[in-house]
Amino acid sequence: MKLRDLGEFNFINRISKAIKLSSHVVKGIGDDAAVLKYTKDKYLLFTTDILLEGKHFYKGSSAGLVGKKALSSNISDIVAMGGIPKFAVISIGLPGSMNLKYADELYKGIRKVADKFSVDLVGGDTVGSNKIIINIALIGEVEIKNLALRSKAKKEDAIFVTGDIGGSIKLKHLNFTPRLKEARYLVKNFKINSMIDVSDGLLADLAHILEESDKGAVIYEKTIPVSNDAIDFNSAMRDGEDFELIFTLPKKQADRLEDIWPFETRLSRIGRICSGRKGFYLIRKNGKSEKIKSAGFTHF
Ligand code: ADP
Ligand code: MG
Repeated sequence: MKLRDLGEFNFINRISKAIKLSSHVVKGIGDDAAVLKYTKDKYLLFTTDILLEGKHFYKGSSAGLVGKKALSSNISDIVAMGGIPKFAVISIGLPGSMNLKYADELYKGIRKVADKFSVDLVGGDTVGSNKIIINIALIGEVEIKNLALRSKAKKEDAIFVTGDIGGSIKLKHLNFTPRLKEARYLVKNFKINSMIDVSDGLLADLAHILEESDKGAVIYEKTIPVSNDAIDFNSAMRDGEDFELIFTLPKKQADRLEDIWPFETRLSRIGRICSGRKGFYLIRKNGKSEKIKSAGFTHF
C-alpha cells in the first residue's frame, strides 16, 4: 500500500494508535497543539509546522513573507488552543547557492513576527538542501481554565468564524496575522467549548471539531464570510490556509458575543452544533440542504 492510498489523516491516526503516552500528557496527537502538564494553573502547549518550497510557497516568494508565514502558522496553532506563544526553535534547510540577502530577509521576517508576539527564538538546526525547508517548533502556555480543545463542542453550540474565508492563495496565506488578541479575548470572557484554526479549509477544519467532539453541524451558505479574493463559494470552503479561527460556544452566550465584539476583525455566526447522529449539513442560499462528505486540503 502507498501513503497516497491511506491518506494524510489515516496515516496520522496510525501513528497515534501506536504511541503510548505518559501521564504528563493531557492531549497528544489530534489537536492544534499538544497539551502538557506544567504548573498548578497553567498547561504547556507544544506545536510544530513545516514549510516546503514548491508546496507551501514558491521559489520567487518574498523571503520576508516566507519567514513571516513560518512563525505565524505555528503561532496560529497555539492561539487556536486559547494560549500565548513563548519560545521557538527554527530548523532550516537552504541551498549553498542561495544569496545571503535572501537568507537575511527570511530571518528578518521571522524576527519581526517574533518581536510582535513576544516570542523568544532560542535555537534550531541548519542543513544544506536543494529546496528551502523551514520547520519551526513553538512552545506556548495557557491557563488551565482557558484551554480550548477541538473535542469539547456541545450540542446547540453556536458556530462562529473570524475574518474572511477563501482566496488566501492570492497573498493572505503568506501574509496573515494570527488571531491572538481575538482568541485571548474569547477564552477570557466566554465559555469557548471548542476551537481550531483554518489550515485545511473551513469544511475540513469544522469536520475535525465534529469528529473529535463526536457531533454534527448545520451551517448556512448565506452566513459564510467569503473573501472577495475567492474564486467561488465552493473553493473558498475547501482551499484552506485562511488561518482564521472556527469556534463554538453555548447559544446563550452567542448573542452577547455578537453585541459586544470589540475588534475590527469580522465575526460571523455560521451555524450550530447538533448531535453526532445528524451528520454535517450545508444549507444553500436556495434553502436546499446538502450533506458534507468532508473535503478540504490533504497532503499526499
Ligand atoms: P494543524 O493543521 O493544526 O497544524 P495537522 O493537520 O498538521 O494540524 O495535524 C493534526 C494532528 O496530527 C496534530 O495534533 C499534529 O501534532 C499531529 N501530527 C501531524 N503529523 C504528525 C506526525 N508525523 N507525527 C505525529 N503527529 C503528527
Ligand atoms: Mg491548526
